This record gives sequence, structure tokens and C-alpha cells, in this order.
Amino acid sequence: MTTDLNCIFCKIVARELKSDIVAEDERTVAFNDLAPAAPTHVLVVTRTHYANAAAVTDPEDLYAMFQMARRVAADRGVEESGYRLVLNTGPNAQQSVFHVHMHVLGGRQMTWPPG
Ligand code: AMP
Repeated sequence: MTTDLNCIFCKIVARELKSDIVAEDERTVAFNDLAPAAPTHVLVVTRTHYANAAAVTDPEDLYAMFQMARRVAADRGVEESGYRLVLNTGPNAQQSVFHVHMHVLGGRQMTWPPG
């Protein structure tokens, strides 16, 4: 497993930085976003450090993120109403934390296209 000592999400995974963890498994950790954009706004991160979605090299990590997102959606009761999975990647997408994370957004009507 790769870790970046300066990465805040690596610190959350290592429990060096306090966060509101809602679920975890062998490959991923899920925690509430600090600045929620919806009633359910959970971030799913890999335990391994990858700068973004494009940098993920182990397909098992990608699969694990989707599985965890599904678990979070079920736990939050938004599985039926629907939810949005977002992986901001790079500057135009306004990625601000450079450790791959999947936003799980739900609990309200979304609009499209996104801002
Ligand atoms: P992005 O813009 O896709 O890179 O998303 C980064 C997300 O991380 C934002 O929604 C932030 O609110 C969230 N965030 C940043 N720091 C923390 C933290 N320490 N705990 C929880 N969420 C955080």
C-alpha cells in the first residue's frame, strides 16, 4: 500500500487526522464530507494513495470504491431515491484534494448539467 505523508486523506486513513468515518473495508474508507453539498455527502477513498481516478492502477481498488459507494447509499437509505457518484479529476473538474475520492451525493433532487 502506498502512502503520501503530506496527503490529508492518507492521514484520515491512518487515523492521524480526525474525521467522521462511516464505513471501511480492506481497501477503502468512507467518511462524511466536511462541507456537505447534499443531505448525504460521503467521500470514499482508497487506502492506497493515488493522485486521482486516472492514476489508479489496481482494478480491485476501483471495484472496491464502487462497492463501498453502494453500501453507503444503502446505509443512508438513498439506494431507491438515487444518488450521484462524482470523481473530480484535474483542474477543470476543480479537484482540490489529490487523493482519489468518490463523492456519494444523495438525499435531494440533483440537477444536470453540473456546475
Ligand atoms: P474535490 O473538490 O473533488 O477534490 O473534493 C474534495 C472534498 O474533500 C471537498 O468536498 C471537501 O469538502 C472535502 N474535504 C476536504 N478536507 C476534508 C476533511 N478533512 N474531511 C472531510 N472532507 C474533507
